Formats: sequence, structure tokens, C-alpha cells
Amino acid sequence: MFGLPGYIYKYSARENMDTTRDNIESTSKSSTKFSCSDVGYEPNRFVNLGDFSEDLSCPICFGIFRQPITTNCRHVFCKNCINTWSMKSLTCPVDRRRLTKLCKPPILIENMLNKLLIKCDYEQFGCEEIIELPLLEQHIKCCHFKPKETYLLVQSCK
Ligand SMILES: [Zn+2]
Ligand SMILES: [Zn+2]
Ligand SMILES: [Zn+2]
Repeated sequence: MFGLPGYIYKYSARENMDTTRDNIESTSKSSTKFSCSDVGYEPNRFVNLGDFSEDLSCPICFGIFRQPITTNCRHVFCKNCINTWSMKSLTCPVDRRRLTKLCKPPILIENMLNKLLIKCDYEQFGCEEIIELPLLEQHIKCCHFKPKETYLLVQSCK
């Protein structure tokens, strides 16, 4: 009677390992797909962007600023966009001036961003929330539509 449970245990352990590997694969796949989470927000996710989309869009990713940063030549970029850029080049992508420092964006930009209303990241999963941009991160953390069941989908595909 001892042999059988042992066999089942070993078998399910191997199955778990396979599932874990699938999870890692699917996570890395989805993170390539959603790599936009580090760059600007998609303009069409905002409900009140109006005519400001040009003023508030990043020249690198063409999205709406995420954590905006100003250069010494007063151009504004998403923090991650300009960080990634500065690893390759130390000149401003807009006017080619030498980048010497990065600082906080003009208060006007921050104020405009703070007034924007954005749809939840998980709209495609059924969340209908429209959130003030400064509160988005907080909402994302506790959004009930966050797809934590990705691995179940992977399993049912087999
Ligand atoms: Zn950007
Ligand atoms: Zn510049
Ligand atoms: Zn949500």
C-alpha cells in the first residue's frame, strides 16, 4: 500500500513542474505583449483627454506621459522612456541637445495629468472603472478583474 501513494506523489510533482514552466512561459509572453506598462498610457484609454493629447504625449513612445521627467532642454518624456534612451544616447531625442540633467516636470503638466480620467488596465477583462490617473496604480493593485487565473487558462488549453 505504500508504493502507490508515492507514485501518485511523484507524478503530481512532475505535473506541477510542467505547470510552473508553462506559467513562466505565459508570463514572459504576456509581458512582451504588455511591455507598454513601462511606457506611456495609450491615449484612447482616457475619457477626457480632449485636445491635450499632443501636449501630454511622450515623443519616444507616443503614449501619454507615465511618471513624466523634464530634460535640461525642457522636453518632457516618460521616466522609463528617457532612462532607456539615455542608455543608448546622451542627446535629447527631440532637439539633439546634450542631456545634462533630468528633473521634475512643470507643475502644469502634472496638474493636467492629475485631472485625467483613465480606463482600468483590465478593461478587456470586464472592469468598467474609470479612475483619476493618480489613483490608477492603487486601483490596479486591488482590481477584481486582474487576470490571476492565467495558469488555469494555460491548463485548460492542453
Ligand atoms: Zn514615453
Ligand atoms: Zn530636448
Ligand atoms: Zn479595474
